[in-house]
Amino acid sequence: MTSPKYRGFSRLVSCLQSGLLTQHRKKGEQIKKGMASGQMSRDEALECTRCRHACHVLLYSETASQLFGRIPIRYIVLMQMRFDGLLGFPGGFVNPLEETLEEGLTRELLEELGVAVPVSKEDHVESCFSPPRSGTYSSSSRLILHFYVKKMEEEQIQEIEKAAASTAADHGLEVLGMVRVPLYTTKSGGGLSCFLSHSFIGVARFQLMNSLLRLHLVSPGDLQEALRSSQRTHAESAQNLQAAFKLTGEQP
Ligand code: AMP
Ligand code: MN
Repeated sequence: MTSPKYRGFSRLVSCLQSGLLTQHRKKGEQIKKGMASGQMSRDEALECTRCRHACHVLLYSETASQLFGRIPIRYIVLMQMRFDGLLGFPGGFVNPLEETLEEGLTRELLEELGVAVPVSKEDHVESCFSPPRSGTYSSSSRLILHFYVKKMEEEQIQEIEKAAASTAADHGLEVLGMVRVPLYTTKSGGGLSCFLSHSFIGVARFQLMNSLLRLHLVSPGDLQEALRSSQRTHAESAQNLQAAFKLTGEQP
């Protein structure tokens, strides 16, 4: 059963996300009525032949392992450090004229993870327009993002991590390394809150938070707490960066 508290928080996350999407819609033309909410079905998305399409997936598994032998890790959730220094999900551009979205995603996963993880239509979660990066919008660069979630066995996740660091064609190039998302909070406040304070590509932070809530991997209360703490960490990082100018002999 979905608790009212969860629904409230989930709505908040969706609003934040659609806020970005509204910004995009104002500038875009001829976006179909069915797509007016920013979100669209997989089939509606494929009707847009002038759009580019990109598919990404959140892969996760249960785990019984414990950090320091006492903090339950509970779930392994995979993300990656991208070539641009941002955190994101594995996947990439797909050409629906040549392959299905899921075939294209599996092809991308083989390049980035070294394993052709099969992804099916049933794993599809949502499709939406990518929000423009400030100042760089052009209607010709319309990009639809398709997001998938797939549950696996812990051993399969471990195999992926090994292959990603050894046989994957993109290792050290487009992908700098796979990372696990810490879902716990340590006594000193580390864990999910610090992870969320990093920089993410596009809407990846929202995709992560929405998934954690939807799959009940983290409770809304714990996520709210982590976000609050994350904002404090973010403020400290800003001060830290300011102070770092001294290393270069420059004033900020
Ligand atoms: P990739 O080849 O994985 O970089 O993805 C293809 C395109 O999707 C690039 O333009 C990325 O900037 C963009 N992208 C990747 N992940 C996300 C995301 N989570 N949210 C928004 N845009 C993304
Ligand atoms: Mn990619």
